Amino acid sequence: MKSYNMLIGGEWVGAASGETFETENPFTGKSWATIPRSGVDDVDRAAAAARKAFNDPSWSGLSASARGALLRRFADLLAANADRLAEVETQDNGKLIAEMRGQLRYMPQWYYYFGGLADKVEGRVIPIDKPGVFNFTREEPLGIVAAITPWNSPLMLATWKLAPALAAGNTILWKPSEFSSASALEFGRLFEEAGFPPGVVNIVTGFGSEIGSHIVSHPQVDKVAFTGGDRTGQGVYELAAKSIKPVTLELGGKSANIVFEDAVLEDAVKGVVSGIFAASGQTCIAGSRALVHRSIYPAFVEALVAFAKTARIGDPSSENTQVGPITTRPQLTKVLEYIEIAKAEGATLALGGKRASDPACGDGWFVEPTIFTDVAPAMRIAQEEVFGPVLAAIPFDNDEQAIEIANGTIYGLAAGVWTQSISRALTMSQRLRAGTVWVNTYRAVSYMSPFGGFKRSGIGRESGLSAIREYLQEKSVWIDISGTVPNPFVQR
Ligand code: NAD
Repeated sequence: MKSYNMLIGGEWVGAASGETFETENPFTGKSWATIPRSGVDDVDRAAAAARKAFNDPSWSGLSASARGALLRRFADLLAANADRLAEVETQDNGKLIAEMRGQLRYMPQWYYYFGGLADKVEGRVIPIDKPGVFNFTREEPLGIVAAITPWNSPLMLATWKLAPALAAGNTILWKPSEFSSASALEFGRLFEEAGFPPGVVNIVTGFGSEIGSHIVSHPQVDKVAFTGGDRTGQGVYELAAKSIKPVTLELGGKSANIVFEDAVLEDAVKGVVSGIFAASGQTCIAGSRALVHRSIYPAFVEALVAFAKTARIGDPSSENTQVGPITTRPQLTKVLEYIEIAKAEGATLALGGKRASDPACGDGWFVEPTIFTDVAPAMRIAQEEVFGPVLAAIPFDNDEQAIEIANGTIYGLAAGVWTQSISRALTMSQRLRAGTVWVNTYRAVSYMSPFGGFKRSGIGRESGLSAIREYLQEKSVWIDISGTVPNPFVQR
């Protein structure tokens, strides 16, 4: 068993209590490493270290260009360590090695981009309406950013927070998911190696149920950047409100992949399959509803089932595997429960529908790629996030109805549109209430393009130019240049 420590104030330490927990490999179902199980006193230590670093000239005194250079140095180290980190992640969370390598080799771009942006954040001079005063603005960091991240793409989703937050000059208290802390701790070493001063990035491991509230309500924490489930997010939002902390929330989804009768069917089949079965459906942007025009519905479903059947399920560390395990035991139970709910609701099972028994899956936590047809929009399987390889196929009769069904959930994270008509593509991209709309593609993300949710899918945007604003606050500075102190009883 490997034994990890966590990073507080530049030191690699265990929990003050000495407690640890075991992290399991979803493919073997066996524990492979121990992780410190933090308590509230560890959070206090990390918050104090982050505050000290925020106030220390070794960080606060750096020019924005120097901060950018540190981020770019980190990006170089990340690029050099991408394959090693991918292996750790595959072992710890069961994501496919091919996907993890791709994700990790692309991840440095966020640090190059936001490193480059660090010294392009500028204040303004306001042509103020009052004589004898000069007024300008400064963009300042918020202070300590608590980053709370989930298990499904652990380093990528942390990167979406850490890169802009550090570029803006904040310090970090990062709590990774208890199901995927190993990669975070390996990642932490690279911040040290890149030369970030001690305490700028702190990583506190442990259970959200034990330390999450303490982090969110901590008086030293100035902002909470959270990615996770919408119920947890709701609790985080409520608690943050009590101490008037700004939040970004990246929450769940029930995204619709809409296939029109004029779509290139082969492409749409690939898009729908990648939308739901990539990462075994454990992505917030999973296209978990396929809305298909009734005229092509039977043929489309047949092609979809035939293609999904070809997916190779098994060992995530093999290059050839296309569908890996479910990351956590509780998630495995949840996905199987939703399959039963869909059956009980009267949906027709067209593919899969149970824990995979393929010999390639061993004792791992696998669910077969599952497709339900005859799904009505109001069914729970069409409304609630499953976060697993389960697709609900819903027919529609016209564009208006497609929009109504697509927009008819509490979520609004993403949507896919498959059509050859430019006017339909534009109309749909305007009328779909989702933070991302893909036309004739699915799952594309970039460090350059904003990502986030409409409705219950979240608040705020990550990636792209505007993401750095989530980690800055504007200050207005007034300077008297008249040389005369005015009458104190007259407001200027
Ligand atoms: P989760 O909400 O259970 O946990 C997320 C994080 O919150 C973990 O670090 C957890 O320890 C912590 N946490 C738990 N209870 C807490 C509390 N009371 N206070 C503060 N923190 C607490 O989510 P998960 O199961 O790890 O991840 C899956 C969910 O994340 C899915 O719903 C998925 O849609 C969502 N997600 C959203 C995005 C996005 O960008 N919109 C991306 C990936 C995942």
